[in-house]
Amino acid sequence: MVIQFIALLFLFSSSMTSAYAGNAWSKIGYPLAGRPQVIGSYAAGCIAGAVALPLVGDGYQVMRASRNRYYGHPLLIRFIEEQGRQAAGHGNRLLIGDLGQPRGGPMPNGHRSHQSGLDVDVWFLQQPRDRVLSRTDIERIDMLPMVRATEGRLNHARWSPYYRDALKLAAQSPRVERIFVNAIIKQALCDSETDRAWLNKVRPWWGHDAHFHVRLACPPDSGQCKPQQPIPPGDGCDADLANWVRDIVQAARSPKPYRKPSPPSADRLPAICNAVLNNPTAWDMQRP
Ligand SMILES: [Zn+2]
Repeated sequence: MVIQFIALLFLFSSSMTSAYAGNAWSKIGYPLAGRPQVIGSYAAGCIAGAVALPLVGDGYQVMRASRNRYYGHPLLIRFIEEQGRQAAGHGNRLLIGDLGQPRGGPMPNGHRSHQSGLDVDVWFLQQPRDRVLSRTDIERIDMLPMVRATEGRLNHARWSPYYRDALKLAAQSPRVERIFVNAIIKQALCDSETDRAWLNKVRPWWGHDAHFHVRLACPPDSGQCKPQQPIPPGDGCDADLANWVRDIVQAARSPKPYRKPSPPSADRLPAICNAVLNNPTAWDMQRP
């Protein structure tokens, strides 16, 4: 019995270790102080000197604040505040989804990227400028899909020209590297926009039918930030996009059983991220 108990305990503790191995990043409650520095890539990276986005600002509000994923590079914080001011100018308030964890790194659920303090999700749904949601509402209000996926078209009952304006404004920021949206939304914009140049940065992806995902380029202060492949030229309103839409419609019409994806591994991070996570002194010594 005792042996069985010990064996069980061993099994339990070893599975705990592996389940939480990548999650030390989600347990760190505050950023590493100091000069802002993005290290690694969007899907395998971390950040030192991140700052917290204030939970409520002019024209925006952070949703799901209990997750503690509202940290980013100061340029990302400034970008969101600026987008908020623009929305406020039109009488609206943006709802802001996840940025990153205080020191970046992999999250136990929800995203593969958002690791280096340069990614932010912006809900399509907006609120009136003066309506600040309660602490309960920011945790409970649902993200509403803006597409009818089985029909391959936009849900016009939900869509608003304001959502298009927010996308376009973000795409036009020189700091923005790319934006991910559901392919059906991009297709609708391809069909309705007369000037499609700004659609170049708007990239088709799965999901992203209730929010868009903005990704900033590597900041000039971060020599160890790993950029992504550049976007091919053109507006992307092409056969590749049509294939994306077809795949999404097919997947919606005959859904496969949902399998929870395994969380991204912490093993792929640049070694210096260990210092960001664990050892501020070592980090200081690494400064150029
Ligand atoms: Zn995202």
